[in-house]
Amino acid sequence: MNKHYHTVVIGGGCLGAACAFSVQRRLGNKRGKVAIIEKKVLGAGLSSRHSAIVRSANASPMAARMAKIATQYWKNLKPLWGVNIPYEQPGAIWIADNTTGSDSESWATLEQMLQQEGIDFAMLAHRDVMDLSRQALKTVPDEMYYYEPDVLQLDSPQILNAMQTAAKKNRIDVLEHCDVIDFEFTGQGISALHTSQGKFFAEHVINAAGAWSGELFAGIGLSIPVALEPVYAANFLVSVDDIPKGMPIIADYVNQAYFRRWRGSILHMHQPRSRNVKDIARAFSRTAMNPEGANVIYDALSFNVTHQQLDNYLGKVMNRFPKIGKPVYAGGYYSFFDITPDLKFILGADTQFTNLYYCLGAGQALKYAPIFGEIIADLITEGGVILNSIDIDEFSIARFSNNDISRYWQANALKQSSL
Ligand SMILES: Cc1cc2nc3c(=O)[nH]c(=O)nc-3n(C[C@H](O)[C@H](O)[C@H](O)COP(=O)(O)OP(=O)(O)OC[C@H]3O[C@@H](n4cnc5c(N)ncnc54)[C@H](O)[C@@H]3O)c2cc1C
Repeated sequence: MNKHYHTVVIGGGCLGAACAFSVQRRLGNKRGKVAIIEKKVLGAGLSSRHSAIVRSANASPMAARMAKIATQYWKNLKPLWGVNIPYEQPGAIWIADNTTGSDSESWATLEQMLQQEGIDFAMLAHRDVMDLSRQALKTVPDEMYYYEPDVLQLDSPQILNAMQTAAKKNRIDVLEHCDVIDFEFTGQGISALHTSQGKFFAEHVINAAGAWSGELFAGIGLSIPVALEPVYAANFLVSVDDIPKGMPIIADYVNQAYFRRWRGSILHMHQPRSRNVKDIARAFSRTAMNPEGANVIYDALSFNVTHQQLDNYLGKVMNRFPKIGKPVYAGGYYSFFDITPDLKFILGADTQFTNLYYCLGAGQALKYAPIFGEIIADLITEGGVILNSIDIDEFSIARFSNNDISRYWQANALKQSSL
């Protein structure tokens, strides 16, 4: 099969799908067609193994600004994707250590920056935390609490359904079970993709292959620094009285755990990405030695749990929610953060191939899907980002251009951030 597309998106995760919808909407029916090429099925990758939380707090002011816009997009997705997605707005409580002055200083700076961006994020008194959590949470004098009331909770199966419906509504060609294997070039651009289902010609190519990107593009001399950080996600069955309806999402940086109420009586939890530069460097060294590459995500072993891991999580639940007692384990799985060296996205045009664009998430990107789609569509159809007040230079692949990640780490060593 040989086919010609205006734009081919590699990867049918939430980011690839969002790019396809936005580009096709701009093109209309007459100016060209968009295809998503997905080696498994739509949403099979990390896009079906996340917590579906949409929040704006971020250490990068530009990322926070984009998340704030994305939150509005999620609330009214129809103009962008042609479908709406149900959402709840439980807000989120952030819990941080207050034993050292430096931590409290960096959280205060974060609060100030977010407020300057117009994001509602403010310190909360202990008694307010108790009220908001309906006394479910344990508070400790050496902790501080911040509250972001506009945080949304989506539901991952509903996002997947919306992606499938939107693909049909927007008349995207979705080629599933189709593996991109190689590329052809003309001049400075990619002209065609070789896949397990034949050759496809493309005027524009979007790399939304997430954790697989490094391996896929290494063959044509592009170095895309994405590694995998494994993380266990678990569900516990609890009493609806112990985790009351409307309880905010808990981002507990003292216990290193995100907790959220899901579908009534499930407490869903997982650890956050590590912000430690040494852990990040180690994740990159593990990725290099992993014979499965990113396909480890699809390994059935990802659905096993060890007693040690479970005990670790049970401890965190019982520590933060003392009323629950020992909760009932109700399933879990390993997922993987697709991290970059600085934990920031890779977004925007390539520096060598003129028709290649990146839309990669860095372990935190579901929330950005609709705005990333619009940004990439701006680049392809308008030649630059026209979305007001958005500048994506900070997220360019060019920041890794010396091609030596260890030097990059040394140079950036320990510009660590709270979020
Ligand atoms: C436990 C956990 C919780 C999370 N919670 C949140 C959250 O609450 N909020 C949030 O915003 N983010 C969250 N994230 C992050 C979020 O899951 C990811 O950032 C997001 O899903 C990435 O989407 P993607 O489309 O880039 O990648 P993916 O969904 O992985 O999509 C990439 C796709 O490319 C396909 N592909 C790869 N190679 C090829 C090829 N050669 N040919 C064709 N197709 C190919 C893959 O099969 C895959 O489907 C969480 C992550 C984890 C691990």
